[in-house]
Amino acid sequence: MADDCIFCKIIRKEIPSEIVFEDDEILVFKDINPQAPVHLLLIPTRHIETLNDVDQSDQALIGKLLSVAKHLAGEMGVSEGGYRVVVNCNKDAGQDVFHLHAHLLGGRKFSWPPG
Ligand code: AMP
Ligand code: ZN
Repeated sequence: MADDCIFCKIIRKEIPSEIVFEDDEILVFKDINPQAPVHLLLIPTRHIETLNDVDQSDQALIGKLLSVAKHLAGEMGVSEGGYRVVVNCNKDAGQDVFHLHAHLLGGRKFSWPPG
């Protein structure tokens, strides 16, 4: 846990969020500034800054993150239409919050390549 990390504060329930899934390893909540009708953030409950900081011992955790994303896409009704899971890593990708997170975006058509 990092004292000044906004997502760690969400995990500790020090700031409010709309939580849609929670267990001891993963927390999922609605993005405060949604970019699509469905926009969830999936985060590990352990403070990991970026995807660069993941190592081999985190493989199961990262796999679980994707598995939970797939499950929630179904619950949110976007599996058939399609959805996108995005991890921004560092400044060129536009990472703003330095606690590893995956965006689950769905409910509209996305363009490719991303901007
Ligand atoms: P990124 O640019 O990949 O680091 O994405 C950070 C995301 O966190 C953005 O989509 C923000 O809208 C979202 N965000 C920032 N603060 C909060 C918060 N307090 N609750 C929910 N989402 C947040
Ligand atoms: Zn954190």
